[in-house]
Amino acid sequence: MSRDLLTVVVAAFNEADALPALHPRIAAVLDRLRGEGVDGRVLYVDDGSRDGTWTVLQRLAAADPRVALLRLSRNFGKEAALTAGLDRVEAGAALILDADAQDPPELIPQFVAKWREGYDDVHGTRIARDGEGWLKRGTAHVFYRLIGRLSKTPIPEDTGDFRLLSPRALAALRQLRERQRFMKGLFGWVGFERVAIAYQREPRIAGRSKFNFWKLWNFALEGITSFSTAPLRLATYLGVLTALLAFVYALWIVLKALLWGDPVAGWPTMMTVILFLGGVQLVALGLIGEYLGRLYMESKQRPLYLIDAWRPAPACAATAP
Ligand code: UDP
Ligand code: MG
Repeated sequence: MSRDLLTVVVAAFNEADALPALHPRIAAVLDRLRGEGVDGRVLYVDDGSRDGTWTVLQRLAAADPRVALLRLSRNFGKEAALTAGLDRVEAGAALILDADAQDPPELIPQFVAKWREGYDDVHGTRIARDGEGWLKRGTAHVFYRLIGRLSKTPIPEDTGDFRLLSPRALAALRQLRERQRFMKGLFGWVGFERVAIAYQREPRIAGRSKFNFWKLWNFALEGITSFSTAPLRLATYLGVLTALLAFVYALWIVLKALLWGDPVAGWPTMMTVILFLGGVQLVALGLIGEYLGRLYMESKQRPLYLIDAWRPAPACAATAP
């Protein structure tokens, strides 16, 4: 019987408290999968943590030959950390998991089963988000619907990064080297056969969320600007609409002056119009600036991340073909 290879990729930023509790759960699942013909590995990516995460990871790796470690030179953010991890998965499928066990590792066999049925992108869709405030749930809800509308690439609703990618989906993803990385969108862009697995998003096992409201807002902007130019189009429409209104209003002013003469008046109207037009112009400029800024970042062609340390899994070498 041929054996499948699966690498669980975990990006961790300051997760020293969560990892010791998470790893035994992953290890137990991998033990179970071993009996079903799947060789499992875990690749932890330390995204420039400052809290002893690396020491914890080294301890885990010393005790479990299936663990590989990657450390980035600084905190590059979750998207870059995941990219770094996925780049290192040389064979087999990859499964992305959060370090805080909000995506329960116990579901991995379900993902694997779907993969073996022939799906390339098996993603977890949250039916409930326990342990997250109403504000986060609410804004996430609006965000997924908005980006679903704006983006031409399919981005499944309420779907995070908990997902399994088949070897060919992984290879396709590797070709997308853009700097402004909105992974949920990139996964969608790749396409192939996709299937969702519904799951309950659990509360964090330890530590605190790394995404505050401001970070999430910027993340949302990143997603929208990376996968849609609709805001630019909106600016155009807004411009056309204002120009039309201004034109009609101008006609009315001329007509009024012709019919009834022009006593000097209209300071309030003038101010209103000037301020309104100024505002619209600034908004449109800001929108263009958002895209221009991203173009600028993209044009620098910097690497997506830098690696500080790489420690392959000893078990990998033992079973490599
Ligand atoms: N993470 C990361 N780099 C960062 C921020 C977060 O690798 O700069 C990881 C983090 O360790 C966790 C995952 O991304 O494994 C999700 O982060 P978190 O749980 O804080 O986000 P939330 O679930 O609250 O949206
Ligand atoms: Mg979390």
